[in-house]
Amino acid sequence: MATISSTQESAVVGRPSPNLRAIFDAQRSASRAGTLPYARRVASLGAIESVVLDRQAEIVRAVDEDFGGRAREETLGLELAPLIDSLRHTKRHLRQWMKTRSVRAGIQYFPASAKIVYQPLGVVGIAGAWNYPILLTLLPLVDAIGAGNRVMLKPSELAPATAELLRSMLAGVFSEDYVAVVNGDAAIGAEFATLPFDHLLFTGSTRVGKMIMSAASKNLTPVTLELGGKSPAIVHQDFPLRTAVERILTGKLYNAGQTCLAPDYVLVHESKRDEFVALAQEIAARLYPEWLGNPQYTRIINRAHYQRLQGYLDDAAARSARVISLGKDRKGCDSTNRVFPGVLIADVNDSMQVMQEEIFGPILPVLTYRDLGEALKYVNDHPRPLALYYFDYDAARVERVLDETTSGGVTINDVIYHIAQNNLPFGGIGPSGMGHYHGRAGFETFSQTPPYGPVSERVIRFLLRK
Ligand code: NAD
Repeated sequence: MATISSTQESAVVGRPSPNLRAIFDAQRSASRAGTLPYARRVASLGAIESVVLDRQAEIVRAVDEDFGGRAREETLGLELAPLIDSLRHTKRHLRQWMKTRSVRAGIQYFPASAKIVYQPLGVVGIAGAWNYPILLTLLPLVDAIGAGNRVMLKPSELAPATAELLRSMLAGVFSEDYVAVVNGDAAIGAEFATLPFDHLLFTGSTRVGKMIMSAASKNLTPVTLELGGKSPAIVHQDFPLRTAVERILTGKLYNAGQTCLAPDYVLVHESKRDEFVALAQEIAARLYPEWLGNPQYTRIINRAHYQRLQGYLDDAAARSARVISLGKDRKGCDSTNRVFPGVLIADVNDSMQVMQEEIFGPILPVLTYRDLGEALKYVNDHPRPLALYYFDYDAARVERVLDETTSGGVTINDVIYHIAQNNLPFGGIGPSGMGHYHGRAGFETFSQTPPYGPVSERVIRFLLRK
């Protein structure tokens, strides 16, 4: 496997933008020339698996460089481990997924048969996000390759070392007319979205998602949009509060809150609010005994995002919210080192920016409710979230919450983990996204499935008889 040396890396700076159209055309003509068979797809998945496993140390280093400090455990445990798990799941099941499925034809069409045939779409575009820069580019790649497609990948320019490593890794494994990584800034991203892909999957913000969909619409390119939003965590007063706080804070502070599925805000019963705050202070100090200089606490991706987060705190404080520091010591943490300590905000309301925008950082607003109906009304009065978390052991109330809310996905009594289930489709709804991937759902997203099968000439003639 080719590795990039630092001289090669510096040579990349200033390289002219890749000729996107030429790469696309090469992939399209290759895709129209024939379908990649099962064996080739499995070999490709195996090649991705090997290159990722062989180059783990480089991956950890590149992501660390991009964040200016990214917990090694997060890169290995939250990116590579789920990627490899999903990849092996796809390898295990692909033969079965690819099988033509017979379905019953209408009796009036006797003796016709009907079949669902899974065909590759052709050329798929994948635009990834920076927050999990390996997982969010390679996981859709696995699904698209499993379904037999050619793929152009555009990693996020906000994680440039990882983007360049991805290019080098995949260029060592695939020819450009099969899988190509194109790197560049937002202008390249915009150009990328204008290519007439057979499908385009974008992971990023709702704001850019709209631009992607608008560009894709010019070609009638179908899109899967994996977006963000404000995912609530609701804690019932009967649920053991310490357990809830531990799980919510753990999920919130992974990657310093820069996680699409992080609980954005929490709704606790008004009688439990002070206990929630006290427990959060104790537990945060245990999880992160210090913020600055702690290699397990990830930094904010860049100064602009740091200032955005600081702006939420300043705005909330100016509107009389209570900003409650977590953990031991914030001293020395600033936009230069980009260490943003975990923090709670109490007494918030919707006039504050922090309750209007997806936070995407380690700030947790704590809202209160008097009865469950009030909490559900708050959630339903706001845009449909990517995820919803509910903490309660009472099956009837859990049923009620599932029944009365709509979100991209749900984890009960914990946060985030529904994303790690290979058998669950993953995606958002409304402003948090459209379409699904992961496992079989991803295979189907990137496959064309003619909804009817071969109907014999005889039957057609019979049905169209005069
Ligand atoms: P972003 O939307 O700001 O940027 C994403 C990418 O879009 C950039 O890398 C850029 O190259 C590209 N881009 C910018 N302008 C463009 C244009 N006009 N046309 C085409 N491409 C353009 O998002 P981000 O800051 O990278 O990620 C944060 C957001 O992503 C959050 O909202 C988060 O919730 C969401 N997210 C969602 C998921 C998910 O799986 N649902 C996962 C991770 C992140």
